[in-house]
Amino acid sequence: MPNAFTAVFFLALAATAATRLWLASRQIAHVRRHRERVPDAFADRIGLAAHRKAADYTEAKQRLGRVETIVDGLLLLALTLGGGLAFLVHLTGGIAAGPLWQDVALFAALGLVGGVASLPFSWYSTFVVEERFGFNRMTPALWLADLAKGVAVTILLGAPLLLLALWLMRTAGDAWWLWVWGAWMAFQLLVLVLYPTVIAPLFNRFEPLPAGSARERIESLLARCGFSSAGLFVMDGSRRSGHGNAYFTGLGRAKRVVFFDTLLSRLEGDELEAVLAHELGHFKLKHIAKRIAWSAALSLAFLALLAWLADRPWFYEGLGIPGALLPDALSRPGVALALFSLALPVFTFVLGPLAARYSRAHEFEADAFAARIAGAPPLVRALVKLYEDNAATLTPDPMHSAFYDSHPPAAVRVARLAALAAHPSPAADPNFRHYQFKD
Ligand SMILES: [Zn+2]
Repeated sequence: MPNAFTAVFFLALAATAATRLWLASRQIAHVRRHRERVPDAFADRIGLAAHRKAADYTEAKQRLGRVETIVDGLLLLALTLGGGLAFLVHLTGGIAAGPLWQDVALFAALGLVGGVASLPFSWYSTFVVEERFGFNRMTPALWLADLAKGVAVTILLGAPLLLLALWLMRTAGDAWWLWVWGAWMAFQLLVLVLYPTVIAPLFNRFEPLPAGSARERIESLLARCGFSSAGLFVMDGSRRSGHGNAYFTGLGRAKRVVFFDTLLSRLEGDELEAVLAHELGHFKLKHIAKRIAWSAALSLAFLALLAWLADRPWFYEGLGIPGALLPDALSRPGVALALFSLALPVFTFVLGPLAARYSRAHEFEADAFAARIAGAPPLVRALVKLYEDNAATLTPDPMHSAFYDSHPPAAVRVARLAALAAHPSPAADPNFRHYQFKD
């Protein structure tokens, strides 16, 4: 029976979808309005043709995103209030296996439905949008191979975690959520080690940075930051796309800084050093550890909430489980877990701007670190090349950016670096204490 929670959920879903659509439309309008003029700060380095391409590329991605928002919203409605999940609960409840396996089957069915709904968007994004702007280098065969590997990795890693969580929910008593939290955190740490060493190499080739003119400076930079050069890699990103990037990942001995070959071929020695300094800044300033700490606190709170909701009939009934199925649903922890994971994003969407702001703060910190270690001007030059090569817009809508962007908008980021270059006083930098190296 629909209840007050049904209305709350429906309103949250509608508000989230409407906000997403509104932000996408704002982004399109803003980028279009600034399409004919390169911002002054970039005018001497980025041409009008590249600027227009970035505007059109941004618009194409937002248009696809709007369709996806609508499809996702309708699918979520169909699964919850439309009775889709109730149907799957009923269906898997008829499987002649233990209740644990019925719940596993429920998640397999949900994963299949979600996967099938997202595949057309992934295909269209790669073979229409990326293709049109000259970025795509994937063949359909590679796309399918990636898909197969992705599904295999998800099952190999996800199924044991799901089984363990469902088993703990059944057998660990009232404090099951603490046990599940422990398992979840252990899993996250495991993935942080497995991702760079085992998972990413399934999809790409990783090689040591080739010896070049910048080699000595890079070795000295690594030594100063206490980072092993064995953790520095070049990835064959050009196999899939023309986009270039660099990233940091991993934990302990699995720590990695990875350059896409597409980026490496574009950077001069001092620019490469500056980008590396930025990535090392993330390690030095303990950004991974801070993110893990946040994720630990949030997942603990959400699991406590799930434990509380799992015993409330109104939670099930409000999300489309009919009264007749209720006794069955209350006895299967998988049903609560499934409903919770479906409904949660609708309520946490409002936290998006906070998470994005937190990430942008880390980017500013890593930039300030890089400016001190390697100088701001080469980092600015490298960023401008990145923006141009990736057709990243220089003129995002401020509201859209505040909601979604993990990195500061181009103009803000470059202006901050310019200010750091002009006034390189340690006192102006709140993270100065982190820069004092052991040597
Ligand atoms: Zn960064």
